[in-house]
Amino acid sequence: MLTLADLRPLIAQLQEIAHLHSAAAVLAWDQETYMPRGGAAARADTLAMLQGAAHDRFVSSAMDDLLARWIDPETGTIFDSEPEPAARALLREVWRDYRRAKRLPTAFVSLLEKTCALAQDAWVDARDAKQFARFLPSLEQIVTLKREEASLLGFTTSPYDPLVDTFEPDMTTARLTALFADLKTRLTPLLRRVQDAPVRPDALPTGPYGAEQQIRFSRVVLEAMGYDFSRGRLDQSAHPFTTGFHPSDVRLTTRVATDDVITCLFSCLHEGGHGLYDQGLDPGHWGTPLGDSVSLGLHESQSRLWENCVGRSREFWVHFFPLLKAAFPDALADVSLEAFHAAINVVRPSLIRTEADELTYNFHIIVRFELEQALISGTLLPRDLPGAWNAAMQTTLGVSPSHDGEGVLQDIHWAHGAFGYFPTYTLGNLYAAQFWQQVNRDINDLPTLIEGGRFEPLVGWLRDRIHRWGRTYSSEELLVRTTGEGLNPEYLVDYLEAKYATVYRW
Ligand code: ZN
Repeated sequence: MLTLADLRPLIAQLQEIAHLHSAAAVLAWDQETYMPRGGAAARADTLAMLQGAAHDRFVSSAMDDLLARWIDPETGTIFDSEPEPAARALLREVWRDYRRAKRLPTAFVSLLEKTCALAQDAWVDARDAKQFARFLPSLEQIVTLKREEASLLGFTTSPYDPLVDTFEPDMTTARLTALFADLKTRLTPLLRRVQDAPVRPDALPTGPYGAEQQIRFSRVVLEAMGYDFSRGRLDQSAHPFTTGFHPSDVRLTTRVATDDVITCLFSCLHEGGHGLYDQGLDPGHWGTPLGDSVSLGLHESQSRLWENCVGRSREFWVHFFPLLKAAFPDALADVSLEAFHAAINVVRPSLIRTEADELTYNFHIIVRFELEQALISGTLLPRDLPGAWNAAMQTTLGVSPSHDGEGVLQDIHWAHGAFGYFPTYTLGNLYAAQFWQQVNRDINDLPTLIEGGRFEPLVGWLRDRIHRWGRTYSSEELLVRTTGEGLNPEYLVDYLEAKYATVYRW
């Protein structure tokens, strides 16, 4: 029987490549946090060199020879008929990555990287000027390249399929289309009901909330969640993110606004969920797919579970609201727990995705999913995108951007070439709600534990059911193993209905 021990030479090769990726990730983290602005061009060259070196090693003849010892490189068939499950999973996932990497010529990868690096500058310039026309030439180049990438990777039904598969392995356009159509049908009446409700939660006072106190409070919350600061850090950046170089070094960033007590805290809860996943990966499998996260959707389920299911629950604030009030006694003097809970759960159709509530957020994703599919299939031309965007926002959420900056130019993803990425956000919401109902079944006093500020049982459950498995199972298999069924959007709809029944008192 083929075992992981037999695969040691392959694992050693994978770990060498992982060291290159880790070095690049440290530099990318530094770029977003402490690097002086003047360092950008030199840093881009260093990163490109490191990533190129990692790619070259992965598609090298040495790797070909290694893989050919255990699998047919054309089909991925494992020669041993009954390998140990971990060895089977490792070979399956390495082959998946290898086959993808082999289909993209190095010259194509470099051209795409360079085009996207330049496009980001054009995007920042266009967004600041609120003029889509300044970004259009870059977007046209990127869409052309992404269509070419889809052809190189290969597809049978939709050119969008291989792009989605990059971020969410095994997910297809057809499945997403059905899933999102179903979700839209169920969430639209809920949104109407919320909009028609007579209750209008008050907004929170605008502070001031001292930046240092906000960071201090967020650290207390992160520690209570089980985020281990001896293996992590919290810094500030323009766009909050999480990056991990190894389970022993996982870093979070947040941003602080002194007129708003929510931004820093909820970005810490969100990134803390990502961070717990990365800290919970098995260090013994570091550098191999068994020590890597399953998919972006699954990663996002961990951040959404903490940010929304836990962080926007009343139970969580039974414990933390007195502490928050003590940290900001003046600003929050007249706010009750009930008013605070209602304020952090208010639903309001709006223009900006990253500021959207839990309900309307999914509509922002559905709009992007439909538009990017049309761009990739060629039924929508980049120059017609702003009109299509504004029309879709009006039809879906009843709001219209007054300029491109708060419309089609608000997200950086397309400038990054990340087509097929957006759906993973809503998948994360769906996975999170499904895990959440299951953990509440498995730990039946979970609400009481959370009211007491005790998160160890929840973290233990997530570690045991999800984090430690790496890519041993696909996201769908992990859902079935953990919750007894595949992806089911009913859990998110039920969760939202229950929440808004409380907030809007029906
Ligand atoms: Zn996230």
